[in-house]
Amino acid sequence: MAILPIRIWGDPVLQSLAQPVTEITEEIRALVANMFETMDAAPGVGLAAPQVGVPLRIYTYTYFDDDDEPWRGHILNPELWMEPIAPGDPDPATEAEGCLSFPEHKFPLRRADHVRVSGTNLDGQEVSIDVRGWRARIMQHEFDHLNGIVYIQRLIEPYTAQTLSIIEESGWGVPELSWTPEA
Ligand code: ZN
Repeated sequence: MAILPIRIWGDPVLQSLAQPVTEITEEIRALVANMFETMDAAPGVGLAAPQVGVPLRIYTYTYFDDDDEPWRGHILNPELWMEPIAPGDPDPATEAEGCLSFPEHKFPLRRADHVRVSGTNLDGQEVSIDVRGWRARIMQHEFDHLNGIVYIQRLIEPYTAQTLSIIEESGWGVPELSWTPEA
């Protein structure tokens, strides 16, 4: 297994439509294993294949809260249903989201509280996920990545302006930038 470089905002793969996985090969298995290792090393609660430069419809996720078992998995070719997003502005205290492709920053974003995701796993079995709250947020965030959407594109002001300043100051927004988590 290996920790993979994570593409940073500006790389075209992050804004491209990822393609369905048509065959589960050894390469795909290795990719998913490496995505888990990379996500854990970052650390992050989710990682989509485009973030490691692979334009395929795959993501991994992991989330721990106080009173639950660790929640972890991967999904291929997901489809997503979500309930309508509640109106109003996002709460910076409880709805701040981050992304490994826009590292070391968080911005408030309103998301649907409840989603259902279906797809398959590496064994070709059907996977069906029905979650709320932060888990639902993670599903929406990772699913977005497969459609070429990074969460900063969904922000409202003043957060959009803040991201533009960060991009300029950091020299992001150009192709082939990446960072690699430490083991
Ligand atoms: Zn992300």
